[in-house]
Amino acid sequence: MKSETKIINGDAQLTVQIDREVLETSMNNKNKQPPKPRELSKKETEPDWSRKCEICGQSPIVPCTGMCGPCTFGEAETMGGNW
Ligand SMILES: [Zn+2]
Repeated sequence: MKSETKIINGDAQLTVQIDREVLETSMNNKNKQPPKPRELSKKETEPDWSRKCEICGQSPIVPCTGMCGPCTFGEAETMGGNW
């Protein structure tokens, strides 16, 4: 019976340790400044039909990434310059 108690204590200690890590991680994230999204000009984000996607060869592409909508945004709905 005594050994059972020890295991329970060990688990509780582990849980506390994990909780502290989670807390510290979330605190660190709070202090960190969120990355400022670079402002893109219309020219950089407008569908460019004159070039083809570096990945799949589709048109149009997002000029600033060189990739088509689905490859850039990961969403099939952005196909055909629909972003
Ligand atoms: Zn693509």
